[in-house]
Amino acid sequence: MTDVAVDLVVLGGGSGGYSAALRASQLGMSVALVEKDKVGGTCLHVGCIPTKALLHSAEIADNVRDAAKFGVGALLTGIDVAAVSSYRQGIIDSKFKGLQGLLKARGITTYDGFGTLTSATTVQVGDTTLTGKNVVLATGSYAKTLPGLDIGGRILTSEQAITLDYVPTSAIVLGGGVIGVELASVWRSWGTEVTIIEGLDRLVPNEDESVSKQFERAYRKRGIEFSTGVRFESATQDAKGVTVTLEGGVTHTADVLLVAVGRGAMTANCGFEDVGVTMDRGYVLTDERLRTNIPGVYAVGDIVPGLQLAHRGYQHGIFVAEDIAGLNPTVISDLNIPKVTYSEPEIASVGLSETKAKEQYGDSAIAIYDYNLAGNGKSSILETAGSIKVIRVVDGPVVGIHMIGSRVGELIGEAQMIVNWEAHPEDVAPHLHAHPTQNEALGEAFLALAGKPLHGM
Ligand SMILES: Cc1cc2nc3c(=O)[nH]c(=O)nc-3n(C[C@H](O)[C@H](O)[C@H](O)COP(=O)(O)OP(=O)(O)OC[C@H]3O[C@@H](n4cnc5c(N)ncnc54)[C@H](O)[C@@H]3O)c2cc1C
Repeated sequence: MTDVAVDLVVLGGGSGGYSAALRASQLGMSVALVEKDKVGGTCLHVGCIPTKALLHSAEIADNVRDAAKFGVGALLTGIDVAAVSSYRQGIIDSKFKGLQGLLKARGITTYDGFGTLTSATTVQVGDTTLTGKNVVLATGSYAKTLPGLDIGGRILTSEQAITLDYVPTSAIVLGGGVIGVELASVWRSWGTEVTIIEGLDRLVPNEDESVSKQFERAYRKRGIEFSTGVRFESATQDAKGVTVTLEGGVTHTADVLLVAVGRGAMTANCGFEDVGVTMDRGYVLTDERLRTNIPGVYAVGDIVPGLQLAHRGYQHGIFVAEDIAGLNPTVISDLNIPKVTYSEPEIASVGLSETKAKEQYGDSAIAIYDYNLAGNGKSSILETAGSIKVIRVVDGPVVGIHMIGSRVGELIGEAQMIVNWEAHPEDVAPHLHAHPTQNEALGEAFLALAGKPLHGM
């Protein structure tokens, strides 16, 4: 048995955990980081990074397919999945190596193995007892499935879908949220016949309704089939394929079924309940300063109910380290966390949707400008349809920005600054946007809301 005493023990080395560890060490704390698999967690190994690599490959396939339209001779002869895999894995490996090096350079010791919280100040990893003045719980999330729907064979979660060693001829995607539509986008660009099944009444149901409508139009145009407002009943598989039966008896058959119905908190057997941490359906409950009910024990990232995004996890980790150090950091509100759906087209949003803004302020207290990307030169060059909807409080700040179109994810930086700084359109309007960029579309929307549209009405 070994006993190690440090200032901070972090349980889980994903986005939330490793950022807490890095910031804490920067602030002079001694840190022990416990990881059962690989530091970097879901985002680096089976989430954000691999999916975006696949989407880049998908974009290139689309560009090659459409090359003649732009005067370029090219022929798409197929997708070499082995080459895609080595490209994807190469990025992950280099980032993984970089992160391991950084943790080491900061003097953070990583303990390999499954950690269990055994008291308010101790985590057990194998024979080692780590004692910390504070403990951060950061054990992350896993892909959920539905009752009676067993993962295996042709029935995949995003984790198996990312590493599939062939391009399926056809795929059913159960769940039209962010992970489902991203992988649907990749497969469609690679030539797969894709059908999405969504239980709610629209794709990307967490986005503004007008954005969902445009997204559905774009997916229909790309030949992606979808059914909304329908519930899954059962699935069977054999050597030939997988068949999904929906409530009402409609069936779909395909090579593979991707189950993308959300992610649950990975907290089973971690000892949290035994120590008395207040939980709800596996999630760890915290106050707004990410403190659990046990003094000195914090929780960050996907195990804290709310948006499951890597940048939320990073910010949680930084926040907690600074809070422990007594720096009184600013509370992180889920509402104004920027969100991007990386598909073709992309969706990027921050703040209140139109419906929520109307609920909160009343119909007459908000003003909206919905700028059509048809008026934006760069978007025409890219041949993308879409829009940028900006919502302001009358005589007040911008409270929501909702964008759809190719590459609009890159515009979220400016959008989130404006919403989080509670800027008024009149504050933004005098600032220039370079021509021709898609940023100009944001500029046009602010000019319009400030009462002086340049090109629009
Ligand atoms: C397919 C997919 C695509 C995504 N794309 C994006 C994206 O583009 N942008 C974005 O912002 N977010 C994206 N996400 C979400 C993002 O990956 C998560 O929000 C983020 O990884 C959460 O970080 P975390 O630290 O809370 O958890 P995780 O990254 O899950 O890390 C938790 C870590 O804890 C370890 N662990 C768990 N239990 C124990 C234990 N008992 N002992 C030791 N170690 C333990 C795990 O092995 C893991 O490494 C995506 C997710 C998926 C699945």
